[in-house]
Amino acid sequence: MPEGKLIIFSAPSGAGKTTIVQYLLTKIPDLEFSISATTRQPRGDEQDGKDYYFISKEEFLHKIAKKHFVEFEEVYSGTFYGTLREEIERIWAKGKAVIFDIDVEGGLHLKRKYGEAALAIFVQPPSLEVLKERLTGRGTDSAEKLKERFAKAEKELNYAPQFDIILKNHDLQTACGEAELLVDSFLKK
Ligand code: 5GP
Repeated sequence: MPEGKLIIFSAPSGAGKTTIVQYLLTKIPDLEFSISATTRQPRGDEQDGKDYYFISKEEFLHKIAKKHFVEFEEVYSGTFYGTLREEIERIWAKGKAVIFDIDVEGGLHLKRKYGEAALAIFVQPPSLEVLKERLTGRGTDSAEKLKERFAKAEKELNYAPQFDIILKNHDLQTACGEAELLVDSFLKK
């Protein structure tokens, strides 16, 4: 049985979910971010133990074998991401709810696992075109990586109806405000 609550934000990369999650963390003190493990390299000013636990592929595979993950995925070919059981327990032990910024399949996986204890929100970008512009504008990925992200995003948009809530992100400020109301009311239940 779950001991606490989980707030899952999923969306194709570039839909704005990271910004929304960061906003909620500044507004709702009862939330704490689930830091995922990944085998990718840090981007920009990302920090180990804050944005992700950046680990080697060898270490990741070892943790899979030891069943340390509640879910994990090879999100992009050769790049793994996963949620550590320990991370969720660490946050629940503080009496806080866990908030996730996670890809679509991982989000649905957690929702199936935790049921009513979890609120699964899909952040929907205005269109695939806008999403492509945002991903390109970020300027942190190679052309090849971008192509892979576009293809994945296109596929992920079809999963939206399986989430508890579809949150449209046409305007970031509005989406943040709506997200805050949704999460507040879920935490009060
Ligand atoms: P990025 O490389 O842009 O930080 O993340 C790529 C994708 O992986 C994003 O959609 C992000 O939300 C997702 N992701 C991050 N952590 C996890 C995780 O623990 N599990 C899964 N399944 N996806 C994750």
